[in-house]
Amino acid sequence: MRIRLDRTICDGFGVCAKHAPKHFSLDDWGYASLIGDGTVEEADRDDVLRALFDCPVHAIVEIGDNEFDGEARPGPAAATEEAPVFEARWGYAQ
Ligand code: SF4
Repeated sequence: MRIRLDRTICDGFGVCAKHAPKHFSLDDWGYASLIGDGTVEEADRDDVLRALFDCPVHAIVEIGDNEFDGEARPGPAAATEEAPVFEARWGYAQ
């Protein structure tokens, strides 16, 4: 399981750090940061899910393994077949 925290909508309630202190830290004003890269071990899954569901502003989301998480850009997709070539002539695509 992987998660992402959107700090722009975190309202500093601190619920996440209470439920899953291994994955969330709070700054002096109570706003959360992720600890680590968002990867959640199976043993921590329940605590993190509780934090996710209890976050009043839904700042924590689960992301899929192949989903772009904003940390690194996905590489170019491998070309599996040649892209079709469209030639525009007189306003028509052929
Ligand atoms: S529970 Fe949500 S709003 Fe509260 S500190 Fe954590 S991320 Fe921010």
